[in-house]
Amino acid sequence: MPELIDVAIVGGGPAGLAAAVTLGRSLRTVALVDAASPRNRFSTHAHNVLGNEGISPADLLAKGREEAASYGAALVDATVTRITGTRGDFTVFYDGGEVRARRIVLATGLTDVLPELDGLAEGWGTDVLHCPYCHGYEVRGQKIAVIATDPGAAHQAKLFGNLSDHVTVVPLDHRPDEEECAELTRLGVVVSGSTAARAVRENGALRGVELADGTLVKADAAVVAPLMRPNLELYESLGGRPETNSAGVKCVDTGEGGKTDIDGVWIAGNVSNIGAIVISSAASGVSAGAAINMDLIEEAARANG
Ligand SMILES: Cc1cc2nc3c(=O)[nH]c(=O)nc-3n(C[C@H](O)[C@H](O)[C@H](O)COP(=O)(O)OP(=O)(O)OC[C@H]3O[C@@H](n4cnc5c(N)ncnc54)[C@H](O)[C@@H]3O)c2cc1C
Repeated sequence: MPELIDVAIVGGGPAGLAAAVTLGRSLRTVALVDAASPRNRFSTHAHNVLGNEGISPADLLAKGREEAASYGAALVDATVTRITGTRGDFTVFYDGGEVRARRIVLATGLTDVLPELDGLAEGWGTDVLHCPYCHGYEVRGQKIAVIATDPGAAHQAKLFGNLSDHVTVVPLDHRPDEEECAELTRLGVVVSGSTAARAVRENGALRGVELADGTLVKADAAVVAPLMRPNLELYESLGGRPETNSAGVKCVDTGEGGKTDIDGVWIAGNVSNIGAIVISSAASGVSAGAAINMDLIEEAARANG
């Protein structure tokens, strides 16, 4: 039977790695198991990462892994398939082995489900974008098509309209209402009459969005709102019951530091907050690490009292 360590972390993106650093610096024994599919792996640069502006996502994680390992965290490259046990003695099973830990951090991220439109997936993370704070500055002043699939489209169009005078909203599954169209017009954003039929690519780059009526809305970048599905399978398999929000997405209502309703289990990063970016995901990992460290201290204080 493997020795019992303090904390097992599932997921080695910014959230999981930050938790590993915080716990390692608190002299906790840590194992981090990661399947190496961070959400932003499709992009070459990560922005709004203070102190590491524009760094490649792979380089950022390599630095984070080095830092976590320097404080003693054991890094395992594998996919966790199952977690059993309860607070004080969980077993985390991954392909090729298992680890026993007193506490768990789930930092498994989320899965982006792109709108179904030919030609979009090929450009995801390069010229098919979702977040003005991640890549908006890079497409400032360019021709931008916002593919409208839900009521958030007007919001996205306003944000990208702040960065370019050439923004067109192209309805796909959703069309902004009259009031939204009036606001967008006042901001210089155009709403196309016809709906999107396909994204047109040439030599690997986006050229525009072809409409159902055959016209082409020229675009250097397309903006989409992927359906963001938190990777909650392990949480649910432990008995966690996520809520379903108004957009039909499962989410977990956490307490301080990402504490869940499963005793001994914390969550951090995009799996608990779909709006988190790199730096806020890392911040939540630090909070989860700190909360677990305190929880272990309190447990020892009670046991010795
Ligand atoms: C295209 C794109 C570009 C982006 N650009 C930026 C940007 O420029 N700036 C910015 O701040 N944010 C950006 N983001 C957002 C950023 O990627 C996320 O906020 C951040 O990666 C979330 O960190 P995380 O640790 O929660 O999850 P992730 O980084 O997604 O890491 C989760 C990790 O958990 C692993 N995992 C999942 N399940 C298991 C399992 N069962 N067993 C083992 N491991 C598992 C995954 O393989 C992955 O490595 C971008 C997002 C996208 C989609």
